[in-house]
Amino acid sequence: MIRWVGFFTTLLCPFSLSGIELHDKPPRELSSEEFMVANALWTLLHETAHAVIEEMDIVFLGSEEDAADQLATIALLRGDPDFDLPGGVTAVESVIAAATAWRIEWELEKREGTEASYWDSHSLSIQRFYNMMCLLYGSDPEKYDEMEGHLGLPYERAYGCVDYESARARRAVERIIQAYGPQHGGDANQGKVLVNYEKTFTSEQHAIVAVIRKAGIAERIAGRAERMLALPNDITIVFAQCAGDETAFWRQDSKEIVMCYELLARFLYLYQAKQCLENSNMTDKDLDLCLARWQY
Ligand SMILES: [Zn+2]
Repeated sequence: MIRWVGFFTTLLCPFSLSGIELHDKPPRELSSEEFMVANALWTLLHETAHAVIEEMDIVFLGSEEDAADQLATIALLRGDPDFDLPGGVTAVESVIAAATAWRIEWELEKREGTEASYWDSHSLSIQRFYNMMCLLYGSDPEKYDEMEGHLGLPYERAYGCVDYESARARRAVERIIQAYGPQHGGDANQGKVLVNYEKTFTSEQHAIVAVIRKAGIAERIAGRAERMLALPNDITIVFAQCAGDETAFWRQDSKEIVMCYELLARFLYLYQAKQCLENSNMTDKDLDLCLARWQY
């Protein structure tokens, strides 16, 4: 039987993660720019996972979208210093920021009365949040036990995260690195990962690209992927305007990971939406106005 108490507590306090306390270094409240960069990092890792799965022809059972979410999250939780960002944003804080973005998307969908896309190849936004929290909790249960409600996970899920889900995902990532990494003595056909920033069309896009370039997230991922994987072809991470689509994707034909400027702007909006949703003093109408103010 499910213990619903924890579950309802989570729904009633959807953003309690910002109030968590740990003995060593409490995750802090990120600035809007840090939140955007952290989400861009996790999303680029998710798209890189698609690229690696297809380029290396990695065979697995289950949803590729869930696998890409797991690969991106484990990549951050492995403790690679490349993924600690300027300003002291840790890889764990990036995981929490990306999971929080999925949770806010779910909250906004519910407010707007949007029907959930049960048919979609991606898990629901709220499931992606819980899946990421599961991997985080399972990575260090002793540490995260101190957080209220096991990171918002019901007891039954949290238990399996420690003994099964997190350990299995980590083992899978280590095996991929072993099996598909550069062989001893180097690999003559080692593919490169290039980065390309396409033209910006608005002052907002210009400012966003400046922040992303300064953080160097694409360059960090490119360097890491080149060192850890023997890619059969060059691939390119492209930042571009996408005709209004707030998305990122892997293009097998052109071997490009595309991050749309519109999605980066969406992350900034989600940060503001989070502030609106967390303000318990607002009436429903005030909340609507708050959310609308940051729409673009
Ligand atoms: Zn995907």
